[in-house]
Amino acid sequence: SGSQPHLEIDDLHVYYGKAHALKGVSLSIDEGEIFGVIGPNGAGKTTMLNAIANFVDYEGTIRYGGTDLTSHSPREIVQDGLVYCTEDRDLFPFFSVHENLLMGAQFRDDDDAVQADLEMVYDLFPKLDQRREQEAETMSGGEQQMLAIGRALMSDPDVLMLDEPTLGLAPIIIEDINDAIETLNAEGLTILLAEQNSTFALRHADRLALLETGTIELSGPADEFQDNDYIQEAYIGIH
Ligand code: ATP
Repeated sequence: SGSQPHLEIDDLHVYYGKAHALKGVSLSIDEGEIFGVIGPNGAGKTTMLNAIANFVDYEGTIRYGGTDLTSHSPREIVQDGLVYCTEDRDLFPFFSVHENLLMGAQFRDDDDAVQADLEMVYDLFPKLDQRREQEAETMSGGEQQMLAIGRALMSDPDVLMLDEPTLGLAPIIIEDINDAIETLNAEGLTILLAEQNSTFALRHADRLALLETGTIELSGPADEFQDNDYIQEAYIGIH
């Protein structure tokens, strides 16, 4: 399109003490795409998302729509439109489904749009609609994942960052989450997906990057990943 990238990560470094977890990661994510970051346990995928959300200190530059996010607080980053579903989901366990969803809208003051987004989330995930008053901790893993995505949507994201959204979930629930992601992306949401089991990312992503020990080893369109011998051997058909 010739426009500047939506989300631009340039020479990102993260250290945990002496451990160099990200060693100069650079990536551009375009508006409206699904971008998958795959790689083994410990490669740095979560660290990368944590850096974008400003949950960890980093060196390098992260820009969104041309704005440098380095000095933005985690809350400001949500308000900028970048919303993160962590691997742990971080639900409020003793709050109901409905209350958890409302927590996602805590930084918004556009009440009518919040109401409309609530109905949108309940349409997207009928299982949540049926369980509005149920406590989050009593839901299944898959339902909790839907709730985490629903709560993120209540923050009105432009970019949704998902860390391991289908890890450990039953296939039937993965299908529901598949459908939701397809719907959201078709409506224009940009999605940044991190996954160890790359099946889901390979199925959905327009472009992918392979991260290993803090370094991007390969990046490109999904079909190049599908055809790559190394990816085939290391990441497909092993799970
Ligand atoms: P996973 O899928 O298991 O989350 P990952 O690719 O997301 O893996 P990270 O969790 O980002 O990998 O971890 C990258 C590296 O940084 C690993 O070597 C990990 O042990 C280390 N690391 C992550 N968080 C911390 C921390 N808080 N303190 C020290 N080291 C950490």
